[in-house]
Amino acid sequence: MTPLAGVIGFPVGHSRSPAMMNAAFAALGLDWRYMKLPLPPDRFDSAVRALPGSGYRGANVTLPHKLAARDLADELSDAAAAIGAVNTLTFADDGRIAGDNTDAAGLLDALGDARPATALVLGAGGAARAAAWALASAGARVTVWNRTGERAEALASDLGVECAERPAEAELLVNATSVGLRADDSLAGLPLVDARVVVDLVYGDAPTPIARWGEERGARVVGGLEVLVRQGARSLALWTGMDPPLDAMRGAVVQPTSSTSAQV
Ligand code: NAP
Repeated sequence: MTPLAGVIGFPVGHSRSPAMMNAAFAALGLDWRYMKLPLPPDRFDSAVRALPGSGYRGANVTLPHKLAARDLADELSDAAAAIGAVNTLTFADDGRIAGDNTDAAGLLDALGDARPATALVLGAGGAARAAAWALASAGARVTVWNRTGERAEALASDLGVECAERPAEAELLVNATSVGLRADDSLAGLPLVDARVVVDLVYGDAPTPIARWGEERGARVVGGLEVLVRQGARSLALWTGMDPPLDAMRGAVVQPTSSTSAQV
């Protein structure tokens, strides 16, 4: 049986992960296939439990299923347990399901050697939780800001980081809001602080408003596509035990099969 993997979401039609992961399998000479798996929430548990019997070795999980994936997994990595969300499921031969969160390590991989002492994370959804946890684990002093302040407070309390309504400067700025999904999104509501490194988790076919903002200020900008590649690379390594072919993966995500702005 051909080994399978896939991305589970709802909707999942515009995901770039199949192009990225199938390019990776081809570059590694693996006869694996990576599928789109659109699943409404009420079918998540039963459908995921049936995947190993159909040849699936693993799956990426995206909105709205990351909490359901945490609850379904038999065991969680430290990152998944602390963040409270799972983006990678691995199906073992003995039937156990392992849950991991590669969004966190993927962000650090995308940052490379840059290890900022201070970081401001904008947002309080799943992406912000992973970013805040990853950066705090790497030793940064992390502050979180969110449009809905109560959510930032809850995140900060859960993860032991700070939150602020009017944040001060930070060495690293991470946009983990969905602002910028549309090219004409206004940045006026965001507390953008001068930072020497800017990570925008949002991505599209053109530079995002926050990537343009950072470049205009001379910051080093790390785009959402690089973070997507790095989290996918971590998932692929978990499933196959092989070194991910990063350049093949990067090449595949910048050649989207759809003309619409697509996310994970
Ligand atoms: P989410 O759970 O839906 O959270 C969205 C966040 O954006 C919330 O904090 C929300 O604030 C904020 N927001 C939405 N509209 C806003 C506005 N007009 N002004 C200010 N804040 C606003 O989403 P998520 O899963 O955390 O993902 C966030 C973004 O990161 C998405 O664009 C997603 O595609 C991207 N992402 C990228 C990667 C990657 O690998 N590159 C991985 C994961 C996610 P409220 O709480 O006030 O509503």
